[in-house]
Amino acid sequence: MAGNRTFTMIKPDAFEAGNSGAILKMIEEAGFKIVAMKATRLTPELAGKFYEVHKERPFYADLCKYMSSGPIIAAILEKDNAVEDFRTLIGATNPANAAEGTIRKIFAKSIEANAVHGSDSDENAAIEGNFYFSQLERVL
Ligand code: ATP
Ligand code: MG
Repeated sequence: MAGNRTFTMIKPDAFEAGNSGAILKMIEEAGFKIVAMKATRLTPELAGKFYEVHKERPFYADLCKYMSSGPIIAAILEKDNAVEDFRTLIGATNPANAAEGTIRKIFAKSIEANAVHGSDSDENAAIEGNFYFSQLERVL
């Protein structure tokens, strides 16, 4: 059975552009509840750890630099079928391929600066939520 939690980041491009509020509004209107949330900033080392699965990819170094280039918002979200429904809401990795009305179609600047992150599995949603939030911050 699909889990009911996912993890998201509003990435540096969207935060810097002042789109955090509009993106959170879309997330809430799509039926997701915010379980935990904070504004923070990754160091290049922490960005590297978060995206470690991509360390052999050609874009990894740039991705770590970009993800540590400014503040982000990290959040744990709750909804039935959370992982899949959230990935539908955000759209394809490359905004050029993202469906109309998706968060990335509306707000992403490029395949790298693509506005938001969404977990790709229930297992990674838990790992990523635990990466950012302590047990006491995950009580809701
Ligand atoms: P995310 O994990 O951030 O939700 P995703 O699951 O859609 O995105 P991944 O394949 O996991 O895509 O890639 C992680 C991130 O790496 C992308 O969101 C994007 O910021 C960056 N990225 C992916 N592919 C490329 C690429 N070809 N060139 C530059 N950056 C890329
Ligand atoms: Mg991914």
